[in-house]
Amino acid sequence: ATMPPLLSAIATCGRHGVLVKSAAAMERLGAVTRVALDKTGTLTEESARVRGIRALPDSGLTEDEALALAAAAERPSEHPLARAVVAAARERGLRLEPAADFTSAPGRGVRAVVTDHTVQVGSPTALLDGAPPDCPGARVRTDIGDGPIRTAVAEVEDSGATAVAVLVDGRPVAVLAIAAPLRAGAAEAVASLGRLTGTPPVLLTGDNKHAAARLGEEVGITDVRAGLLPQDKVTTVRGWEDAGERVLMVGDGVNDAPALAAAHAGVAMGRAGSALTLETADAVVVRDELAAVPAVVTLSRRARRLVA
Ligand code: ADP
Ligand code: MG
Repeated sequence: ATMPPLLSAIATCGRHGVLVKSAAAMERLGAVTRVALDKTGTLTEESARVRGIRALPDSGLTEDEALALAAAAERPSEHPLARAVVAAARERGLRLEPAADFTSAPGRGVRAVVTDHTVQVGSPTALLDGAPPDCPGARVRTDIGDGPIRTAVAEVEDSGATAVAVLVDGRPVAVLAIAAPLRAGAAEAVASLGRLTGTPPVLLTGDNKHAAARLGEEVGITDVRAGLLPQDKVTTVRGWEDAGERVLMVGDGVNDAPALAAAHAGVAMGRAGSALTLETADAVVVRDELAAVPAVVTLSRRARRLVA
């Protein structure tokens, strides 16, 4: 009972599966006035699933062939969508060829060479609507996003799933529909965070607007901002900070690292409970429980009162 309040709060967090970086981090977590949450891998579980595969008629590929190419390219990636693609290929017993020259662009997708073909897997916006030239999803043809691929993407997105485009040598060949279940207690955690800050939490996601809006409805978030690149999340967070707010960003430790760093306080959810994550985040929730986030804010506030 002689431990300083902030250190004792850190110890309590540790017992509940939350690693807090330092006393200063513990203190920041209770000072926040607004909460922003990421979607994929944060509000949703890290285990996403492929719900459908549509090979485009003129691709010359079967569903299995398109999936095998996508999975081969995704294999080196840690992203929840990538892991879903690889898992789906394994479930179908598909053989994955080795991938060379793998590159990934956060918030956009991946590119790799598989059996001498360049395979791109990622966001339809990045791959079909143009992207900066330095990005693996940079578009090389102007007519790429027209035709059957458009229809397939729209159908998947209208269903509320995440649409992922697959391109081979710059030509669209398939669209995958991927969805992930909400984390347990997500709606309750969002409501608690809203009560604690007195401001409704905001959803910041790179996913399409239909999938984002559907998830917002499920968790009770009305301010939903979709189609954001990692850098857009940073700009959004900075905007609030510049307006005098102190933002708590809750995100995944990989794509959202820049936004976690830009916010007054950052909490990373899940798997990437590594030392690396703690360089940018103030805390890592190593348990699969979003309830830990409002709990940490409450513990910080109590400790701050004792310090003061
Ligand atoms: P969120 O902000 O919801 O966590 P991300 O920023 O991680 O989403 O990704 C945004 C979008 O980029 C995804 O919806 C997907 O279309 C695409 N994407 C990113 N990484 C990958 C990947 N490894 N495989 C397929 N698509 C990806
Ligand atoms: Mg994410």
